[in-house]
Amino acid sequence: MREIDFSKFSSIKIGPKVWVTEIDEARQIPKGTFLIGGANNILVSPNPPPLAMLSKKFDYICEDEAGIRVGAATSGGKLLSYAKKHNLQGFELLQRLPGTIGGIVKMNAGLKEFCISDNIKSVLVDGKRIAKEDIDFGYRRSGIKGVIFEAVFAKKEGFDDALLEMFKNLRGNQPKLPSAGSCFKNPKGDYAGRLLEGAGFKGRRVGNMAFSEAHANFLVNLGGGVYEEAISLIKSAREAVLEKFGVRLELEIEIVGENFA
Ligand SMILES: Cc1cc2nc3c(=O)[nH]c(=O)nc-3n(C[C@H](O)[C@H](O)[C@H](O)COP(=O)(O)OP(=O)(O)OC[C@H]3O[C@@H](n4cnc5c(N)ncnc54)[C@H](O)[C@@H]3O)c2cc1C
Repeated sequence: MREIDFSKFSSIKIGPKVWVTEIDEARQIPKGTFLIGGANNILVSPNPPPLAMLSKKFDYICEDEAGIRVGAATSGGKLLSYAKKHNLQGFELLQRLPGTIGGIVKMNAGLKEFCISDNIKSVLVDGKRIAKEDIDFGYRRSGIKGVIFEAVFAKKEGFDDALLEMFKNLRGNQPKLPSAGSCFKNPKGDYAGRLLEGAGFKGRRVGNMAFSEAHANFLVNLGGGVYEEAISLIKSAREAVLEKFGVRLELEIEIVGENFA
Protein backbone atom coordinates (compact mmCIF):
# COMPACT_ATOMS: atom_id res chain seq x y z
CA MET A 1 0.00 0.00 0.00
CA ARG A 2 1.12 3.55 -0.67
CA GLU A 3 -0.46 6.68 0.75
CA ILE A 4 -1.18 9.25 -1.95
CA ASP A 5 -2.25 12.84 -1.46
CA PHE A 6 -4.15 13.64 -4.66
CA SER A 7 -3.99 17.36 -3.95
CA LYS A 8 -0.26 16.97 -4.68
CA PHE A 9 -0.01 13.86 -6.89
CA SER A 10 -2.75 14.63 -9.45
CA SER A 11 -2.09 17.14 -12.23
CA ILE A 12 -5.20 19.16 -11.29
CA LYS A 13 -4.03 19.27 -7.64
CA ILE A 14 -7.35 18.21 -6.13
CA GLY A 15 -8.32 15.20 -4.07
CA PRO A 16 -8.10 13.37 -0.78
CA LYS A 17 -5.18 11.63 0.89
CA VAL A 18 -5.86 7.89 0.60
CA TRP A 19 -4.14 4.51 0.65
CA VAL A 20 -3.59 2.95 -2.77
CA THR A 21 -2.79 -0.75 -3.34
CA GLU A 22 0.35 -1.37 -5.40
CA ILE A 23 0.11 -4.18 -7.94
CA ASP A 24 3.26 -6.12 -8.71
CA GLU A 25 2.03 -9.05 -10.79
CA ALA A 26 0.10 -9.16 -14.06
CA ARG A 27 -3.39 -10.21 -12.96
CA GLN A 28 -6.95 -8.95 -12.68
CA ILE A 29 -7.77 -6.57 -9.86
CA PRO A 30 -10.88 -6.89 -7.67
CA LYS A 31 -14.11 -5.60 -9.23
CA GLY A 32 -14.92 -2.08 -8.07
CA THR A 33 -11.27 -1.09 -7.67
CA PHE A 34 -10.22 1.95 -9.73
CA LEU A 35 -6.76 1.84 -11.28
CA ILE A 36 -4.78 5.05 -11.46
CA GLY A 37 -1.80 5.82 -13.65
CA GLY A 38 -0.15 9.22 -13.30
CA ALA A 39 -3.49 10.93 -12.41
CA ASN A 40 -3.26 13.43 -15.30
CA ASN A 41 -6.75 12.81 -16.62
CA ILE A 42 -8.74 12.21 -13.46
CA LEU A 43 -10.57 14.20 -10.80
CA VAL A 44 -10.75 12.21 -7.59
CA SER A 45 -13.83 12.82 -5.42
CA PRO A 46 -13.57 13.13 -1.62
CA ASN A 47 -14.94 9.55 -1.30
CA PRO A 48 -13.24 7.45 -3.98
CA PRO A 49 -13.67 3.69 -4.40
CA PRO A 50 -10.68 1.44 -3.49
CA LEU A 51 -7.72 2.55 -5.62
CA ALA A 52 -4.80 0.61 -7.09
CA MET A 53 -1.70 1.47 -9.11
CA LEU A 54 1.08 -0.48 -10.80
CA SER A 55 4.36 -0.88 -8.95
CA LYS A 56 7.79 0.12 -10.31
CA LYS A 57 8.13 -3.45 -11.61
CA PHE A 58 6.16 -2.25 -14.65
CA ASP A 59 8.48 0.68 -15.34
CA TYR A 60 10.72 -0.67 -18.14
CA ILE A 61 11.58 -0.43 -21.82
CA CYS A 62 13.19 -3.35 -23.64
CA GLU A 63 13.38 -4.69 -27.16
CA ASP A 64 13.06 -8.14 -28.71
CA GLU A 65 11.80 -9.65 -31.98
CA ALA A 66 8.19 -8.64 -31.07
CA GLY A 67 9.11 -4.95 -30.97
CA ILE A 68 9.62 -2.39 -28.20
CA ARG A 69 8.12 -3.66 -24.96
CA VAL A 70 7.12 -0.91 -22.56
CA GLY A 71 5.84 -1.52 -19.03
CA ALA A 72 2.58 0.32 -18.30
CA ALA A 73 4.03 2.23 -15.33
CA THR A 74 6.68 3.83 -17.58
CA SER A 75 6.15 7.55 -18.14
CA GLY A 76 5.48 8.83 -21.63
CA GLY A 77 8.42 11.23 -21.21
CA LYS A 78 10.81 8.35 -20.54
CA LEU A 79 9.64 6.54 -23.69
CA LEU A 80 10.06 9.73 -25.74
CA SER A 81 13.66 10.12 -24.47
CA TYR A 82 14.35 6.48 -25.36
CA ALA A 83 12.95 7.01 -28.87
CA LYS A 84 15.11 10.10 -29.39
CA LYS A 85 18.24 8.35 -28.13
CA HIS A 86 17.66 5.27 -30.28
CA ASN A 87 16.41 7.16 -33.34
CA LEU A 88 12.94 5.58 -33.38
CA GLN A 89 9.84 7.10 -34.95
CA GLY A 90 6.20 7.06 -33.84
CA PHE A 91 6.69 8.48 -30.33
CA GLU A 92 6.99 12.20 -31.09
CA LEU A 93 3.41 12.83 -29.89
CA LEU A 94 4.58 12.05 -26.34
CA GLN A 95 6.18 15.49 -26.23
CA ARG A 96 4.71 17.06 -23.07
CA LEU A 97 1.89 14.51 -22.96
CA PRO A 98 1.79 13.72 -19.25
CA GLY A 99 0.99 10.20 -18.11
CA THR A 100 2.05 6.58 -17.84
CA ILE A 101 1.93 4.24 -20.83
CA GLY A 102 -1.02 2.41 -19.16
CA GLY A 103 -3.07 5.61 -18.93
CA ILE A 104 -1.95 6.85 -22.34
CA VAL A 105 -2.94 3.58 -24.05
CA LYS A 106 -6.22 3.29 -22.12
CA MET A 107 -7.20 6.84 -23.22
CA ASN A 108 -5.64 6.39 -26.68
CA ALA A 109 -4.13 9.77 -25.93
CA GLY A 110 -2.85 12.01 -28.69
CA LEU A 111 -3.05 15.31 -30.43
CA LYS A 112 -4.88 16.26 -33.65
CA GLU A 113 -4.99 13.19 -35.89
CA PHE A 114 -2.07 11.49 -34.09
CA CYS A 115 -2.70 9.00 -31.27
CA ILE A 116 -0.68 6.42 -29.37
CA SER A 117 -2.46 3.46 -31.03
CA ASP A 118 -0.90 4.44 -34.41
CA ASN A 119 2.29 2.64 -33.48
CA ILE A 120 1.01 -0.16 -31.21
CA LYS A 121 1.30 -3.85 -32.07
CA SER A 122 -0.22 -5.48 -28.99
CA VAL A 123 -1.19 -4.84 -25.38
CA LEU A 124 -0.91 -7.10 -22.32
CA VAL A 125 -4.24 -6.86 -20.44
CA ASP A 126 -4.89 -8.78 -17.20
CA GLY A 127 -2.00 -11.08 -18.14
CA LYS A 128 -3.35 -11.84 -21.67
CA ARG A 129 -1.78 -10.53 -24.86
CA ILE A 130 -4.24 -8.80 -27.23
CA ALA A 131 -3.30 -7.90 -30.81
CA LYS A 132 -4.05 -4.34 -31.96
CA GLU A 133 -6.61 -5.62 -34.50
CA ASP A 134 -8.70 -6.97 -31.63
CA ILE A 135 -8.75 -3.66 -29.72
CA ASP A 136 -11.46 -1.11 -30.44
CA PHE A 137 -9.27 2.01 -30.49
CA GLY A 138 -11.14 5.26 -31.26
CA TYR A 139 -10.99 8.98 -30.44
CA ARG A 140 -9.64 9.14 -26.86
CA ARG A 141 -10.71 5.62 -26.07
CA SER A 142 -9.41 2.08 -26.34
CA GLY A 143 -12.36 0.06 -25.11
CA ILE A 144 -9.86 -1.87 -22.93
CA LYS A 145 -11.65 -2.98 -19.77
CA GLY A 146 -8.89 -4.67 -17.75
CA VAL A 147 -5.49 -3.59 -16.42
CA ILE A 148 -2.85 -2.79 -19.02
CA PHE A 149 0.53 -4.15 -17.93
CA GLU A 150 2.58 -3.71 -21.10
CA ALA A 151 2.32 -2.31 -24.62
CA VAL A 152 4.43 -3.50 -27.55
CA PHE A 153 5.26 -0.89 -30.18
CA ALA A 154 6.54 -1.29 -33.74
CA LYS A 155 10.25 -0.59 -34.13
CA LYS A 156 10.79 1.86 -36.99
CA GLU A 157 13.97 3.88 -37.40
CA GLY A 158 13.97 7.64 -37.94
CA PHE A 159 12.99 9.94 -35.06
CA ASP A 160 11.18 12.89 -36.67
CA ASP A 161 12.48 16.21 -35.28
CA ALA A 162 10.10 18.26 -37.45
CA LEU A 163 7.11 16.39 -36.05
CA LEU A 164 8.44 16.90 -32.52
CA GLU A 165 8.69 20.63 -33.21
CA MET A 166 5.10 20.64 -34.47
CA PHE A 167 3.88 19.04 -31.22
CA LYS A 168 5.92 21.55 -29.20
CA ASN A 169 4.22 24.40 -31.07
CA LEU A 170 0.75 22.90 -30.76
CA ARG A 171 1.25 22.75 -27.00
CA GLY A 172 2.39 26.36 -26.91
CA ASN A 173 -1.13 27.67 -26.14
CA GLN A 174 -1.85 25.18 -23.37
CA PRO A 175 -2.34 26.78 -19.96
CA LYS A 176 0.53 26.38 -17.51
CA LEU A 177 -1.77 26.24 -14.46
CA PRO A 178 -2.62 22.81 -12.95
CA SER A 179 -5.33 21.01 -14.95
CA ALA A 180 -6.26 17.54 -16.13
CA GLY A 181 -5.87 18.43 -19.80
CA SER A 182 -8.96 18.93 -21.94
CA CYS A 183 -12.09 18.86 -19.82
CA PHE A 184 -14.52 17.73 -22.56
CA LYS A 185 -14.07 15.65 -25.71
CA ASN A 186 -14.42 17.50 -28.98
CA PRO A 187 -17.83 16.66 -30.44
CA LYS A 188 -17.73 15.35 -34.03
CA GLY A 189 -16.83 18.16 -36.44
CA ASP A 190 -16.57 20.80 -33.71
CA TYR A 191 -14.42 21.92 -30.79
CA ALA A 192 -15.46 21.83 -27.14
CA GLY A 193 -13.40 25.00 -26.60
CA ARG A 194 -15.40 26.89 -29.26
CA LEU A 195 -18.73 25.83 -27.73
CA LEU A 196 -17.60 26.72 -24.19
CA GLU A 197 -16.40 30.10 -25.36
CA GLY A 198 -19.67 30.67 -27.24
CA ALA A 199 -21.62 29.83 -24.10
CA GLY A 200 -19.63 32.40 -22.16
CA PHE A 201 -17.45 29.99 -20.19
CA LYS A 202 -13.99 31.12 -21.26
CA GLY A 203 -12.46 32.47 -18.05
CA ARG A 204 -15.60 31.57 -15.99
CA ARG A 205 -14.58 31.12 -12.35
CA VAL A 206 -16.11 29.43 -9.31
CA GLY A 207 -14.02 29.79 -6.16
CA ASN A 208 -10.48 28.85 -7.14
CA MET A 209 -11.34 26.84 -10.26
CA ALA A 210 -11.89 28.34 -13.72
CA PHE A 211 -12.14 27.55 -17.40
CA SER A 212 -8.86 28.97 -18.65
CA GLU A 213 -8.63 32.39 -20.29
CA ALA A 214 -6.01 30.92 -22.62
CA HIS A 215 -7.93 27.79 -23.65
CA ALA A 216 -11.63 27.50 -22.72
CA ASN A 217 -11.58 23.68 -22.59
CA PHE A 218 -8.94 23.55 -19.83
CA LEU A 219 -10.40 23.53 -16.33
CA VAL A 220 -7.59 25.05 -14.28
CA ASN A 221 -6.82 25.23 -10.60
CA LEU A 222 -5.95 28.82 -9.67
CA GLY A 223 -4.54 27.65 -6.31
CA GLY A 224 -6.44 25.81 -3.59
CA GLY A 225 -9.34 24.88 -5.90
CA VAL A 226 -11.58 22.08 -4.61
CA TYR A 227 -13.65 19.24 -6.02
CA GLU A 228 -17.04 20.91 -5.48
CA GLU A 229 -15.93 24.01 -7.42
CA ALA A 230 -14.70 21.88 -10.32
CA ILE A 231 -17.97 19.90 -10.44
CA SER A 232 -20.08 23.04 -10.26
CA LEU A 233 -18.28 24.50 -13.30
CA ILE A 234 -18.49 21.24 -15.25
CA LYS A 235 -22.23 20.93 -14.63
CA SER A 236 -23.11 24.52 -15.46
CA ALA A 237 -20.91 24.52 -18.60
CA ARG A 238 -22.60 21.38 -19.89
CA GLU A 239 -26.06 22.81 -19.27
CA ALA A 240 -25.20 26.11 -20.96
CA VAL A 241 -23.70 24.42 -24.05
CA LEU A 242 -26.70 22.10 -24.34
CA GLU A 243 -29.10 25.00 -24.09
CA LYS A 244 -27.27 27.26 -26.52
CA PHE A 245 -26.00 24.78 -29.10
CA GLY A 246 -28.03 21.62 -28.49
CA VAL A 247 -24.76 19.70 -28.00
CA ARG A 248 -24.29 17.32 -25.08
CA LEU A 249 -20.60 17.60 -24.16
CA GLU A 250 -18.95 14.36 -23.11
CA LEU A 251 -16.34 14.49 -20.37
CA GLU A 252 -12.75 13.70 -21.30
CA ILE A 253 -11.64 14.02 -17.67
CA GLU A 254 -12.72 11.02 -15.62
CA ILE A 255 -14.46 11.65 -12.31
CA VAL A 256 -13.42 8.99 -9.82
CA GLY A 257 -16.02 8.09 -7.24
CA GLU A 258 -19.14 9.80 -8.50
CA ASN A 259 -21.57 8.50 -11.06
CA PHE A 260 -21.36 11.28 -13.59
CA ALA A 261 -23.04 10.47 -16.91
C1 LIG B 1 -1.28 19.68 -19.20
C2 LIG B 1 -1.95 18.45 -19.77
C3 LIG B 1 -1.98 18.26 -21.13
C4 LIG B 1 -2.60 17.14 -21.67
N1 LIG B 1 -2.62 16.99 -23.03
C5 LIG B 1 -3.22 15.91 -23.56
C6 LIG B 1 -3.23 15.71 -24.98
O1 LIG B 1 -2.71 16.50 -25.74
N2 LIG B 1 -3.84 14.62 -25.46
C7 LIG B 1 -4.43 13.70 -24.66
O2 LIG B 1 -4.96 12.71 -25.17
N3 LIG B 1 -4.42 13.84 -23.32
C8 LIG B 1 -3.84 14.92 -22.75
N4 LIG B 1 -3.83 15.08 -21.40
C9 LIG B 1 -4.49 14.07 -20.54
C10 LIG B 1 -3.54 12.95 -20.06
O3 LIG B 1 -2.22 13.30 -20.29
C11 LIG B 1 -3.83 11.64 -20.76
O4 LIG B 1 -5.20 11.27 -20.66
C12 LIG B 1 -3.00 10.47 -20.23
O5 LIG B 1 -3.34 9.35 -20.99
C13 LIG B 1 -3.23 10.20 -18.75
O6 LIG B 1 -2.37 9.17 -18.32
P1 LIG B 1 -2.23 8.84 -16.76
O7 LIG B 1 -1.22 7.76 -16.60
O8 LIG B 1 -2.00 10.06 -16.00
O9 LIG B 1 -3.67 8.20 -16.46
P2 LIG B 1 -4.70 8.54 -15.28
O10 LIG B 1 -5.13 9.94 -15.41
O11 LIG B 1 -4.19 8.09 -13.97
O12 LIG B 1 -5.91 7.57 -15.70
C14 LIG B 1 -6.62 7.81 -16.89
C15 LIG B 1 -7.44 6.56 -17.24
O13 LIG B 1 -6.56 5.50 -17.58
C16 LIG B 1 -6.82 4.37 -16.76
N5 LIG B 1 -5.54 3.70 -16.52
C17 LIG B 1 -4.40 4.22 -16.00
N6 LIG B 1 -3.43 3.28 -15.99
C18 LIG B 1 -3.98 2.15 -16.52
C19 LIG B 1 -3.51 0.84 -16.77
N7 LIG B 1 -2.25 0.46 -16.49
N8 LIG B 1 -4.38 -0.07 -17.28
C20 LIG B 1 -5.67 0.26 -17.57
N9 LIG B 1 -6.16 1.48 -17.37
C21 LIG B 1 -5.33 2.42 -16.85
C22 LIG B 1 -7.45 4.92 -15.50
O14 LIG B 1 -8.23 3.93 -14.83
C23 LIG B 1 -8.30 6.03 -16.09
O15 LIG B 1 -9.46 5.46 -16.65
C24 LIG B 1 -3.21 16.17 -20.82
C25 LIG B 1 -3.15 16.36 -19.43
C26 LIG B 1 -2.54 17.48 -18.90
C27 LIG B 1 -2.49 17.64 -17.41
